[in-house]
Amino acid sequence: MKKIAVVGCGSYMDSGYGCPGEWRCLKAAAMGEGKFEEQSNVIAFIQCECPGRSVIPTVGMAMKLSEIKPDAIHLSSCLANAKPGCPYTTPEELAKMIETKTGIKVISGTHDYH
Ligand code: SF4
Repeated sequence: MKKIAVVGCGSYMDSGYGCPGEWRCLKAAAMGEGKFEEQSNVIAFIQCECPGRSVIPTVGMAMKLSEIKPDAIHLSSCLANAKPGCPYTTPEELAKMIETKTGIKVISGTHDYH
């Protein structure tokens, strides 16, 4: 089973719109639905915090402390499809930064649930 980490938008998560890590990302990973090609273990759930500077080192720290290198890192759907979008970066830019730093493939999105 694949090991994956999720990076969610902390601004959205904290705004109380029924978002993480309540169930959507976790269900999609568990069921192998949405952006997950197969059932996957979520080994880290990282919360980005505005303005996003800390998210890259936080991803690195999660990997170091958990001693698990994920097979892929997913940007949560609330981050990847945010409307209005993040005022500080784009999902594409964030994905590229995480990939460059970790060498791990970053996938945009997690689930298609509403
Ligand atoms: S920097 Fe952008 S992605 Fe990160 S928490 Fe803030 S709004 Fe969300």
